[in-house]
Amino acid sequence: MTKFTDLRLDPKVLKAIEDTGYEAPTPIQAGAIPPALEGRDVLGIAQTGTGKTASFTLPMITLLGRGRARARMPRSLVLAPTRELAAQVAENFDAYAKYTRLTKALLIGGVSFGEQDKLIDKGVDVLIATPGRLLDHFERGKLLLTGVQIMVVDEADRMLDMGFIPDIERIFQLTPFTRQTLFFSATMPPEIERITNTFLHTPAKVEVARQATTSETITQGLVQFKPSRRDRAASEKRNMLRELIKREGEGCRNAIIFCNRKVDVDIVAKSLKKHGLNAEPIHGDLDQSHRMRTLDGFRDGSITFLVASDVAARGLDIPNVSHVFNFDVPNHAEDYVHRIGRTGRAGREGTAITIATPSDEKSLAAVESLVEQEIPRMETPDLPKREIRSRRGEERGATESAPQAQSQSQPEAEEKPGRGKARRGRRGETQDRAQVVGMGDHVPDFIRRSFS
Ligand code: AMP
Repeated sequence: MTKFTDLRLDPKVLKAIEDTGYEAPTPIQAGAIPPALEGRDVLGIAQTGTGKTASFTLPMITLLGRGRARARMPRSLVLAPTRELAAQVAENFDAYAKYTRLTKALLIGGVSFGEQDKLIDKGVDVLIATPGRLLDHFERGKLLLTGVQIMVVDEADRMLDMGFIPDIERIFQLTPFTRQTLFFSATMPPEIERITNTFLHTPAKVEVARQATTSETITQGLVQFKPSRRDRAASEKRNMLRELIKREGEGCRNAIIFCNRKVDVDIVAKSLKKHGLNAEPIHGDLDQSHRMRTLDGFRDGSITFLVASDVAARGLDIPNVSHVFNFDVPNHAEDYVHRIGRTGRAGREGTAITIATPSDEKSLAAVESLVEQEIPRMETPDLPKREIRSRRGEERGATESAPQAQSQSQPEAEEKPGRGKARRGRRGETQDRAQVVGMGDHVPDFIRRSFS
């Protein structure tokens, strides 16, 4: 087995790795680090959770060890699709570069960046950014990309989903032709293939898992249930989620619960809290500092259940997540792989449980065909009768404080159009939840029902 000491990394990097306690390089690290250190372009096909961040950070730190940064001309650039992912790369960089004198700046939207501007002005070795924010800075003349020797693109397929590919192409063109490129993607759709053919020079291709495979350390399960009525589906699903959490018992130390829509992220978090569980929502409508606080709380254990949308949770590295619950079967099959990949990371055990109703039939078939396996069916817990009866009260409680129900009924920005069927059904649900003014506590059911 390869050891870190076989990899010709800078001794200062090796010392930092020793501090982390890693025993050996993961397969993506063993595969990508040697060609990267030789100065070659690398095309890494790997999911999050495989240790891919270190597979580009470690050689970068080693290669940048010599040389000095010049004002406004970063020597290397890491592009990540989301702010959280960029912040995570920055944390990795801090950990692995702690015995070096390399400097870094983080350019992401949503927080004030006076400090980062100053750093860039002075000159940084590593600039970590989301594509939009980087181009903003460039256009304002704050930054020159002609000094970039190493450029990393992380989670390229997600960049494609989020519409960042034109930005990425532009950034490639602004950097020197002679740069070294380290390019990572979990999957290789044709558009990504085209980009790599255009901008990478005879890259070393390192593929650590078959495309769209799920980790073997994750125990998967599917709970199928039929809501007693369509307009009760949402609240019965919330009951089901609580029953599943209860059933997992102490083994469920913490969990990320995924919902397809932001409005449900808020409602599910609120409902769990109402039932005494320590839950917080995270989605793209919450401001950056709020999201960071919530994430920190989840990392340090002061928050047990993180209810999340795909955009907000994408690529988050939160070690030790024991469970993932899919409150909804994802609309994009590949999101299933990303979601459940939040648990079972770096060889640890994890459990991923998905709730499916009959209306999820198509999405479920797409997921199972992508992962080339049937998700093992689990026994469906019985919903306690008391909870079914109290449903309407809870539904109202959750709705009354769900902020901006109208704007939040939109899916997250990265979702694509063309899911008319799901939206029609959902519009009905949103109307069901709407607060009815002037009816006191006794709103007849027909008033809450959708007529679309
Ligand atoms: P990533 O795929 O970069 O998001 O990394 C997933 C997790 O694996 C992170 O928590 C890393 O700290 C951890 N990790 C990275 N490299 C190793 C390694 N060689 N051995 C054990 N854990 C690692």
